[in-house]
Amino acid sequence: MNQCEQAQLLSAAHDNELSDEQTRLLEQHVAQCSACADALERMRAISRRFDMCPRMEMPQELREQVLAVPSHEQERSVLRLVNRLTAMAAGLAVAGTVWVMTTTPSQRGGPPANWEQAAMLVTDVEADDTSLAEWVIADLRWERN
Ligand SMILES: [Zn+2]
Repeated sequence: MNQCEQAQLLSAAHDNELSDEQTRLLEQHVAQCSACADALERMRAISRRFDMCPRMEMPQELREQVLAVPSHEQERSVLRLVNRLTAMAAGLAVAGTVWVMTTTPSQRGGPPANWEQAAMLVTDVEADDTSLAEWVIADLRWERN
């Protein structure tokens, strides 16, 4: 755990939420503080992993079905979907953070763990995409009845 008092600013810096002056002062600090430099590099490593994840587009057929549902039902369904996706994203972020914090760089350079392979397989993502689409449609239908 980084005990440096400047560490609390690292997340904001990583998200470009600091002023130019705050950023300049923190950069000077990070250049001299290995704990903060390591922590910032871990945040960047996690971001790079998320950037590697494939982006998905909603299939046209699903898009048309979603648009056919009355708007007040869409709002409730979308809210539930957003809540579940947010929970999933939070889980992934925690898992990624734990992984980066509990492994050494040489370990990360080795062969990926089974769960990493499963998480990164594009063919599985396509299968999950269909499952997600079917789940959304079923959920919208349930809302309607
Ligand atoms: Zn520091």
